[in-house]
Amino acid sequence: MKLNKIVIAIDGYSACGKSTTAKEVAKILGYRYIDSGAMYRAVTLYFLDHHVALTNPKEVDRALQQINISFKVNTKKVTETFLNGLSVEQEIRQMRVSEQVSPVSTIKAVREAMVAQQRKLGKDKGIVMDGRDIGTVVFPQAELKLFMTADMLVRAFRRQREWLEQDRLIDLDDVIENIKKRDLIDTTRAESPLRQADDAVVIDTTHITIDEQVDQVIRMAISRMLGSSKG
Ligand code: C5P
Repeated sequence: MKLNKIVIAIDGYSACGKSTTAKEVAKILGYRYIDSGAMYRAVTLYFLDHHVALTNPKEVDRALQQINISFKVNTKKVTETFLNGLSVEQEIRQMRVSEQVSPVSTIKAVREAMVAQQRKLGKDKGIVMDGRDIGTVVFPQAELKLFMTADMLVRAFRRQREWLEQDRLIDLDDVIENIKKRDLIDTTRAESPLRQADDAVVIDTTHITIDEQVDQVIRMAISRMLGSSKG
């Protein structure tokens, strides 16, 4: 039996477990995992470090031409994000980046540059990509589209635990405020706002474990792989 390679698009609100699920699913299927949020975060880091004025289209275009984002799997089999040849995996998760990434992601030129690169990465299929517009804009033809959601408190506790694992305690109220702000900007922006694709399957992760999320996705992926190998 031949399983065809598919594209798995995972969208949803901030801190719903998209990337944790996507990474695990990619590992099991032997697919490539691309964290599109990391790309927007890398652009934001560059803009912050180079004092790029978001309201100045020329400055933004010039900066975008200087930005080269790539991904490499390290010795621990973890994918790291590189900005102009340097690993920025830790830096892009900092609060200063989290606070600015959604405003940066509203800029049309930024989105166009990222979407073009994301499509290139997915052209041979066999990819799991997570983000906000993957099933709606980047890969509208994806064979499997998921939309993840969860209760706010659960999301905030999960995000706070990730910080704790790095020995950093961030106030829960600050985490909630950041998630709420990003959700609001992401869902209301003019350029490809976060929304559920009509053909996406909704997964509410409030009461299920990571293993259960991964199981659900793998089951759906296999049925799509069989389905698409018949056609
Ligand atoms: O996925 P993550 O939370 O790291 O994404 C950071 C931010 O990047 C999101 O809040 C959103 O503003 C932006 N983003 C986006 N489109 C994507 C992925 C992320 O606008 N496909």
